[in-house]
Amino acid sequence: MASTTLEKSPAKPQQPEIESRIHEHGERIFALIDEAGAPSLFSKKGFYGTLMEWAMKDEHFKTQLFRFVDVLPTLTSASEISRHLKEYLGDEQLNLSAGLRLGLKAAGGASWLFGAGLKSQVTGLARQFMLGNDEKEIVTALRQAHEQGSAFTVDILGEAVVSETEADQYAQRYLTLMDLLGKQIARWRHPCASNDAPNGPVPPLNVSVKISALYSQVHPTDPDTAIERISARLRPILQRAKELGAFINFDMESYALKEVTLRLFREIFAEPEFAAEPACGLALQAYLKDCEADLDGIIQWAREQRRRITVRLVKGAYWDYETIIAQQRHWPSPVFAHKAETDATFERVSLTLLENTDVVDAAFGTHNVRSVACVLAQAERLGIDRREFEFQMLYGMADPIKAAVRQLGCRLREYCPVGELLPGMAYLVRRLLENTSNEGFLANKFAKGASRDELLKDPSEFVGADVRSLAPTSSDSEPAHVGSYTERRFGNEPPTDFNIPAERERMARAISEQRQKLGRRHPLIINNRPVSTSEWLPSLNPANQNEVVGYAAQASVAEAEAALAAARAAQPKWARMPALDRAALLEKTAALMRRDKAALSVVEILEAGKNWQEADADVAEAIDFCNFYASVMRDLNHPQRTQAVAGESNVQQWWPRGVGIIIAPWNFPLAILTGMAAAAVVAGNAVIMKPSDQTPVIAARLMDLFLEAGLPPGVVNLLSGPGGKVGAHLVSHPEIGFIAFTGSKEVGLRIWEATGRTAPGQLNLKKVVCEMGGKNCVIVDGDADLDEAVVGCLASAFGYQGQKCSALSRLVVLADNYDKFLERLVAAAASLRVGPSEVPGNILGPVINRDAQERILEIIEIGKKEATLAWQGAVPTDTNACYVPPTIFKDVPPNSRLFREEIFGPVLSVTKAKDFEQAIELANDCEFALTGGCYSRSPVNIERVKVEMVCGNLYINRGITGALVERQPFGGFKMSGGGTKAGGREYLQNFLVPRVVTENCLRRGFAPADE
Ligand SMILES: Cc1cc2nc3c(=O)[nH]c(=O)nc-3n(C[C@H](O)[C@H](O)[C@H](O)COP(=O)(O)OP(=O)(O)OC[C@H]3O[C@@H](n4cnc5c(N)ncnc54)[C@H](O)[C@@H]3O)c2cc1C
Repeated sequence: MASTTLEKSPAKPQQPEIESRIHEHGERIFALIDEAGAPSLFSKKGFYGTLMEWAMKDEHFKTQLFRFVDVLPTLTSASEISRHLKEYLGDEQLNLSAGLRLGLKAAGGASWLFGAGLKSQVTGLARQFMLGNDEKEIVTALRQAHEQGSAFTVDILGEAVVSETEADQYAQRYLTLMDLLGKQIARWRHPCASNDAPNGPVPPLNVSVKISALYSQVHPTDPDTAIERISARLRPILQRAKELGAFINFDMESYALKEVTLRLFREIFAEPEFAAEPACGLALQAYLKDCEADLDGIIQWAREQRRRITVRLVKGAYWDYETIIAQQRHWPSPVFAHKAETDATFERVSLTLLENTDVVDAAFGTHNVRSVACVLAQAERLGIDRREFEFQMLYGMADPIKAAVRQLGCRLREYCPVGELLPGMAYLVRRLLENTSNEGFLANKFAKGASRDELLKDPSEFVGADVRSLAPTSSDSEPAHVGSYTERRFGNEPPTDFNIPAERERMARAISEQRQKLGRRHPLIINNRPVSTSEWLPSLNPANQNEVVGYAAQASVAEAEAALAAARAAQPKWARMPALDRAALLEKTAALMRRDKAALSVVEILEAGKNWQEADADVAEAIDFCNFYASVMRDLNHPQRTQAVAGESNVQQWWPRGVGIIIAPWNFPLAILTGMAAAAVVAGNAVIMKPSDQTPVIAARLMDLFLEAGLPPGVVNLLSGPGGKVGAHLVSHPEIGFIAFTGSKEVGLRIWEATGRTAPGQLNLKKVVCEMGGKNCVIVDGDADLDEAVVGCLASAFGYQGQKCSALSRLVVLADNYDKFLERLVAAAASLRVGPSEVPGNILGPVINRDAQERILEIIEIGKKEATLAWQGAVPTDTNACYVPPTIFKDVPPNSRLFREEIFGPVLSVTKAKDFEQAIELANDCEFALTGGCYSRSPVNIERVKVEMVCGNLYINRGITGALVERQPFGGFKMSGGGTKAGGREYLQNFLVPRVVTENCLRRGFAPADE
């Protein structure tokens, strides 16, 4: 739910005099609009008008319609179009909407219902908002606007570049477009009235650039490289702009790109070559809480540089996205929660712009009459000629408002996106949402008939008030699920937001600090006391095998026995400690981890070769495990009544299993070790942690935190050492009650077998929690959104060098998409940066050690004989590091080792499927069942994979790694594991046995009333 108190201090309502002028201007604009009539989209008569009317009446229809519109350009045959139409809007939907059927028929759109001619209908709809790709068409439309007195700014659609090749192409398209328009404009006889400002003409060629399209690898940890690469592609555009006397504007995109955009603007326009020309500007978004501070910063910069700039003030186009992303990551929302706050900020920022016209040319990007009227009234009050600033509106939107603004003698610029339909779909859907938004000005004015008074209300009146009555009314204004988990006890630890400079600095500092601490000896911990051993195993940095991260004590069987004795001695008392106290100790451990988050991440970077974000995510998950299992234990602590019966009490309660061993892998060196240990311990058991040989230092840090939190002696013991010896000894030990293992299938099955044999004197049937590997598959359907599929698949396949058990290993792509997808996938893979993980922005680092490196290189060689090598990346030539070139094979046969064996490295196999049926068969042809995924925009196929795809965690239209505690309980079956779900509510029960206590409460025929 939206918060009911506002996040900003109450804004002062406008002065009465200015308010009355705003109303007068507003009334005048409305009068002019009413003369012109509603925009065609709101006419309720035409084909599109009918559709929009229905979309505004029926949320479900709107969602389905817009999703269908989104997929349509990718569909190549009439039968595919009909199938999707049916799947999205279905017979049932169309029957239900008999009124719509009639309306469409009356509007001449009957063909819509039968699938024929649909694509051209949607193309027509899109063309209302964007110019095509055809040069003649573009020039004609711009010329027409010019003749009507509207200036223009052009933007090229398709900013979602996934590779450096695509970024190059995008930059080149700008140059071509600028050349074309430069030539054309030179031929236009008279200047456009809207380019005629009191201080002289403004550049007629105005170009809007989305900087994200100029570099495919913008990464929050590394804005410097982003700025360097974007600048390299931008400079030729700026040079051409100088030659042509053009104006360059930076659009403002999602919040994650804001800092890069602002920095890039300041840096590149301070370069001597561009310090005076071309004319430049940028967009600022009033829905951002930072908007006013950012404007102050940019004005100050302009003054210091003695540079005139334009600021285009808009409200912001990504409100839903920003709100959802912040919710998902538990970050504070960067945008206001209520539209009135955005509107009021727009008005305040407008005033600041008008007060600074000595350095800033103001451009107001809005279709809202109140916002326009407010600008006019304030300009009048300040004595500013209304032709000193301009209004900007979107092509195809709010034409009557444009006409009114021009009639009032204002300068108007239209924002004209050009390009293909396919890359333009995101833009089209944004416009459709904007036109149909319940909160938007356009829908309220033209579709819902809100009164002028309502539409002209001062938004600041609502700011600071109890805005319950203003709570968003529809899902387009606030996602329905927002806040649903805020009332709950457990909340996931937010990932670190590396967009924040202080966070990047903290991490960089932690790397230098931790480096000073490398090379120490890490003893065993038994009974909370350090125990040294005669042997010490060095743990080496995979990016530099000469760097010893630390030395781990090597336990022998004698120390294993000592640890077991300590655990056995401690366990009964620990089990009797109130569950709430045990939970509190885990929560304390979590708090200590949070305190040390950067330091722990650095150990993972140096010892396991994780990049900044992967390491940070692992520490966050460890924190989650402690907090989540603590909260689950609190719930389990309440005995559950089994059945209510008079005279008898029957309750089920849980008892710990005793003493267990925790055998953890190196790939999530903190999270998995913590998760398994925390679950067992909070349940009242005592444990011996046996960390991986590759990551003993991070395990030692965990042990330090358990000690600092105050866990009693013997409850957690740390036993680094040879798994084959001490691990195997403890697994078959008669006094061990349970084993929690995560690791390879080979070791897992050995443990499974060993625990099946009952040793003499054994007291319990051993419980084994066994989580093993995967050979995970993603299906890419013929209608998949490739922008998303390419990025998601690469992240899933090559994140942490493919060394996650959840990693994508097999891609099955429908024949329709196979070549296109592969081409983009390979280009995108080639754009990923490989290098030491401690360098921010390197996506791929080294694999864990030499053995792994050799093993993976060997399977790559085998792969070259089994399939076709589609691409192999380059890696640093540093022989001290364990790099494996990321590799993609295509046409991989299902009977090959590549297709069947778990590789645990950056190797991806791609196989073609002739249809969806075969794709599912291929996906399921596997001994493992861990993760799986599907990219599809067919509702029927999505439902199908939900039912048919054999895996423990299925992800649809997103990457298949990165499960979050509680949100996506994680674990597989078949040869992937025993069906246990780490991070799920039931996980703790693996470490407990249920008991039922029955008490006869009947004494001489009398029972207490509540029994
Ligand atoms: C020429 C031009 C260029 C543009 N360039 C950019 C750009 O570079 N970057 C960009 O992001 N957008 C850009 N836009 C899009 C612009 O942000 C939207 O068109 C604009 O927000 C719609 O505002 P409005 O004043 O016309 O309509 P209104 O209906 O008055 O406002 C709608 C806006 O209010 C805000 N809003 C809606 N609900 C809430 C809520 N619950 N809480 C807080 N705020 C809310 C949103 O920003 C929404 O878009 C541009 C628009 C124009 C006209």
